[in-house]
Amino acid sequence: MGSLLLVANWKMHKTLEEAQIFLKEFLPLLPANSKIKIVLAPPFTLLHSLQHRLAGSSVALAAQNCHWEDKGAYTGEVSASMVYAAGCRYVILGHSERRQFFGETSAQIEKKIVSSLKTGLCPILCIGETLQEREGGRTEEVLKGQLRGSLQSIEELPSEFVVAYEPVWAIGTGRVASVQQIIETHEFIQKWLAAHWGNRVKTFVLYGGSVNADNILEFIGEPSVQGALIGGASLQAKSFLGLIERSISKCFPE
Ligand code: PEP
Repeated sequence: MGSLLLVANWKMHKTLEEAQIFLKEFLPLLPANSKIKIVLAPPFTLLHSLQHRLAGSSVALAAQNCHWEDKGAYTGEVSASMVYAAGCRYVILGHSERRQFFGETSAQIEKKIVSSLKTGLCPILCIGETLQEREGGRTEEVLKGQLRGSLQSIEELPSEFVVAYEPVWAIGTGRVASVQQIIETHEFIQKWLAAHWGNRVKTFVLYGGSVNADNILEFIGEPSVQGALIGGASLQAKSFLGLIERSISKCFPE
């Protein structure tokens, strides 16, 4: 088993005070393991403070979004270089909530990826089908469209790239994709990425959708799964720690 990436997507949750309470409980109990990388994606307002709080720890920071322009008259937006300066080394792009509630398109996501790569951020590209699309047998077609739509013109090769497979019907619903569905879909994504970039880019394919400390054991450790993107279960230090500890004991038993 290679290395594992576990990304906590806090979405629009936590004030600075709440984040400090989380970290006070989380950091002292975080197991040291060089094969597992933990990334926290808090709201923009917390990035700068958490950068200082996490200095010297093994936890990296991600933004949940960025704009494709470097600066300018884009009220309410934050650029890739700004989140990089605030300590981020990753950025989540194309989350289904952004596609669904803010009308984000693959073309916009592609511009954000270009800008992130130029800045030195590692994009975490989220893709996933709706229930209707899965039931209609269209999963691969939809994923291919999302991958092609947001990656086809990427000329600058990243050193590292992360795709999170997040079936829309599994996000925040308590319904998790079956191991079979996860493996089949991850293999499909990996094949697409290999056809696009060959072996020149180190890629991680994460699963996301109602992951918790119990169900992660069903799929973590599968060769096609390089980690997970976790929403709800990453908000409490105890549940996120449980998930990390179980992943370590399954994937890297001593
Ligand atoms: C997510 O935010 O990407 C996510 C997968 O959320 P949850 O784990 O709560 O389903």
